[in-house]
Amino acid sequence: MTWGGKRFATLSNGEFFEPISPFKREREKLAKLQRKLSRQKKGSRNSRKTKIKIARLHHHIADSRRDFLHKTSTQIAQNHSTVYVEDLKVSNMSASAAGTIENPGKKVKQKSSLNRSILDQGWYAFFRMLSYKLEWSGGKLIKVDPRNTSRTCPQCGLVSAENRKTQASFACVACGYRANADLVGAINVLRAGRARLACGMSGAVRPLSAGTQRDPLQH
Ligand SMILES: [Zn+2]
Repeated sequence: MTWGGKRFATLSNGEFFEPISPFKREREKLAKLQRKLSRQKKGSRNSRKTKIKIARLHHHIADSRRDFLHKTSTQIAQNHSTVYVEDLKVSNMSASAAGTIENPGKKVKQKSSLNRSILDQGWYAFFRMLSYKLEWSGGKLIKVDPRNTSRTCPQCGLVSAENRKTQASFACVACGYRANADLVGAINVLRAGRARLACGMSGAVRPLSAGTQRDPLQH
């Protein structure tokens, strides 16, 4: 399974989940209310009204996010036992965007908007939900180091940045294999996770507790 900006999550069988889109609209609404509040006199009747509206909107955003994360994680946990997931180390990504001052402009902007969408979509919370729901049904969530998983051709094995000319699509420069880039990532994460399990490497792979592994050869 991989995470993406355009898609919330993609599985190696081609199944994917759309991102939680309403937040963008609601975030704009929130910013508008906050601007309004800053113009209003502190402690006035109108400013209290605006504060209540802001609190309601926060609640609404949190509720619909939680709802989406629960539905999605339940659906995945019901249909799969072991899930290999791209380990994004969300906190590290958030920290590194702020640190790229020596390379400002487009990249920082892209990165911080990616971080914004990571935080918006609540992937940390999703990780936890999926992990305990899989364990309830005897499965497991296994984090996989995503190195090269976006650049490796699933058909011929060529590892090249050239395979990713655009963010959304994968086109192998050696064998011509084409597919959605998130799907390619998900296939590679699954293979890398299985390979690391097979040769008993730990590190990026979470150790398995004995007896809970139902079928390590599923997504
Ligand atoms: Zn290829």
